[in-house]
Amino acid sequence: MTEYEIVVGLEIHCQINTKTKMFCRCSNDSFNEAPNLNVCPVCMGFPGQLPVINAEAVKKGVIAGLALNCNIPRFSKFDRKNYFYPDSPKGYQISQYDKPVAENGEVIVETSQGEKRIGITRLHLEDDAGKLTHTPAGTLCDFNRAGTPLMEIVSDPDIRSIEEASNYAREIQKIMRYVHSSDADMEKGMMRFDLNISLRPMGTNSYGTKVEIKNLNSFQALEKAMEYEIKRQTKELEAGNSISQETRGWNDIENKTVSQRSKEEANDYRYFPEPDLPPLICEQDMVEALRQEFVGELPYQKRQRFQKEFLLSAEEIRILTESRAMADFFEQANSIANNPKTVASFVTTILLKFLNEHELSLTDSKITAIHIGELVKAIDEGTISNNTAKTTVFEAMFETGDLPAKIIEQKGLKQVSDTGLIEELCKKAIDANPKAIEDYKSGNEKALGALVGFIMKESKGQANPGLVNQTLKNLLD
Ligand SMILES: [Zn+2]
Repeated sequence: MTEYEIVVGLEIHCQINTKTKMFCRCSNDSFNEAPNLNVCPVCMGFPGQLPVINAEAVKKGVIAGLALNCNIPRFSKFDRKNYFYPDSPKGYQISQYDKPVAENGEVIVETSQGEKRIGITRLHLEDDAGKLTHTPAGTLCDFNRAGTPLMEIVSDPDIRSIEEASNYAREIQKIMRYVHSSDADMEKGMMRFDLNISLRPMGTNSYGTKVEIKNLNSFQALEKAMEYEIKRQTKELEAGNSISQETRGWNDIENKTVSQRSKEEANDYRYFPEPDLPPLICEQDMVEALRQEFVGELPYQKRQRFQKEFLLSAEEIRILTESRAMADFFEQANSIANNPKTVASFVTTILLKFLNEHELSLTDSKITAIHIGELVKAIDEGTISNNTAKTTVFEAMFETGDLPAKIIEQKGLKQVSDTGLIEELCKKAIDANPKAIEDYKSGNEKALGALVGFIMKESKGQANPGLVNQTLKNLLD
């Protein structure tokens, strides 16, 4: 039986998060608008109307290109991609054909097999179509989305597994959010995938016939569509059939891809330079200025640095670098506590659990990086026990937004580390628990637990447990 290699390239559409649409002044946010109100003669393609390039969209596209390690050529241009479909009022899409705004980039993706480089063929700018809703009564057209700015990020056919595809797509989402070029919210359709997939016998170099699966709206759909296609194509090839070059759609309910049409070639679209728009000139000094000001440290670099600087677990690093806000939060907290291990543990476990339970984001919560930093510092200085920090103080910070020092003071939580007082409590415990002492002396170390419990109760949980254990042992041994 032949073993097949999977060859995948992804086209990822990301909506650029500008205030206005790509070529007109309509709002780029029509989620709360009634259908067909967020439109104007330009995005509705009325005759004689002239588009104007949204400079902010170009800027964010260039920044995204830089973040994907692309070259930004001085000259690029817009083209008309001609096709008729009811969601496209102009009868064509304004896109970039042979001269995209960014090209020849790469992204490093982490997988269970190690790091993998995925080449970026190009990133180009275009406008989006409207939205069709199919109902039993007929198909409804909403043009609010028509003309919103998009980036299409095309990868080289470097992807070889479902894991690589999924991690690559997640990395692109992260990068777009890091540089604020797209909110990439999949539930709002701000990020969508087209999958190009073919199979070839392992060890061969020529490509098999590729199938395109359009409009995958979630990571899960991407993974499932790939899984289905791999099985389907393997079965066809094993039966000696050829794969037909076609565009397929993904049926989320039946979990399968379905043939839609035979694949168009570029010349089916009759591309020609958009006559109503000037070429796009990106001068090198402007590109460099954007790189300096907006690109910053990217997820991959941040992961590398966190690993070197803080010696955290892979899982902690993954969580802490999920967004720039999260990474900054951690670093700010750690700059106060100077204890990366404990700070990371507080952020990735306790804080995130609280936020999840209350359905809050990091920025909505009353707990700031300063809270976490001071809390960990208070533990390290022996002011409060780890347990008190995790429970009483944490809950109070979450409720009131007060800093740990104030809460510790108000609630009288300060840990007792006075050696004289601790010794007194220990002696009292020894006198009150003769049975436990007997057990301990006959070799049962665990018997000490009863004494510690007694002391904690006596001190209302404020005795320093480390000190209590040490003092008890000193007294008994
Ligand atoms: Zn408009």
